[in-house]
Amino acid sequence: MGISLYDFTNLHNFAFQEQVKERFAKIIQEGSFIEGHYNQQFERRFAQLQGAAHCALVANGTDAIQIALRVLGVGPGDQVGVPGISFFATAEAVLSVGATPVFIDVDPASGLMDYQSLEVVIGQYDLRAIIPVHIYGQHAPIGSLQTLCASRDIAIVEDAAQAMGSYYEDGRPVGSSGNLVTFSFYPTKNLSAFGDAGAIVVQETAQWERICQYRNHGRSPSGHTLSGFNSRCDHLQAAVLDLKLDTVGALNEKRKTLARLYHQLLANVPVRLVPVQYLPLSSWHLYPIGLADAREKLALQEHLKNHGIASALFYAKSLPEELPLRAYPGMKEQSQLFAANTLCLPIHPFLASEQVVEICGQLKAFLTAFR
Ligand SMILES: *Cc1c(COP(=O)(O)O)cnc(C)c1O
Repeated sequence: MGISLYDFTNLHNFAFQEQVKERFAKIIQEGSFIEGHYNQQFERRFAQLQGAAHCALVANGTDAIQIALRVLGVGPGDQVGVPGISFFATAEAVLSVGATPVFIDVDPASGLMDYQSLEVVIGQYDLRAIIPVHIYGQHAPIGSLQTLCASRDIAIVEDAAQAMGSYYEDGRPVGSSGNLVTFSFYPTKNLSAFGDAGAIVVQETAQWERICQYRNHGRSPSGHTLSGFNSRCDHLQAAVLDLKLDTVGALNEKRKTLARLYHQLLANVPVRLVPVQYLPLSSWHLYPIGLADAREKLALQEHLKNHGIASALFYAKSLPEELPLRAYPGMKEQSQLFAANTLCLPIHPFLASEQVVEICGQLKAFLTAFR
């Protein structure tokens, strides 16, 4: 048996399946398939957990970003700052609302949107909004980004798809900043549905009402007062998510313990680790390391694979290198280097300490032979 990136068997064990069946049976009996009581219960609990006044479930994490942009009035003709390291959806959501992505380069130590790069880009472009991404679970420097953006009237949407369970520098949960903060509950994320789902958390009631309107065809008590989307979250998915809220905190703690162990075992190994200040604050959605270059990265991946250890290229290319995004401007150099040398090691909550020891052992053996 090898070491995999994810473990759905333990996550969805027999006892969990029994609880899910009970909830599903109830929903089928009620015939309450869309926006049911579990949606409301989850939204209440999730908002509280993330330190926000409101939460709105939507169909997926990409819609969450798109709807957040729409609520802020971002549309055709607007420029939106996006970091060069993220999942494709961050930039895709900008294009979906008709706006233009402008790339902000990343901090080479973390892969997060770089403050200095944003300063330069702000000087050269007319940004209407930015989308800092809490990549791998590390919090983007929201406090300083907010200070920079506030005086220039640049709106902020935080992409927290990988940061359910993460905290800002001040120890408050990601979601409590006052910005529109979006989450994904795709099956591989820290908090996951049995399919697609996502959410937006928000402090302002008027904005929350807007989101609820957008996700349901622009419907309001007085009719369809704007043109929205169909981005509702199924009751079945909300029932699963609500159930998982009971255990996700403990599972995130296990990820954190594994990250500490990795950091200990790799302390004297010449690879780039996530900066230690994120150890207690990250959700540890992924455990990225940085190698010397792309050649070494791919050789390591092959070595691990030959020893039954899975790893992943998040991300094989930086966003500005992806075909549909190549024409868009901005600063790109560090993002490209970061994508070229980054490899993600397994860190799911059911990984055993001995497995982390084995992975680190193979990593060291590889580097000794390769370098
Ligand atoms: C997963 C992810 C998304 C998109 O979420 P979906 O639910 O798949 O639409 C957006 N941004 C980041 C950083 C992600 O990891």
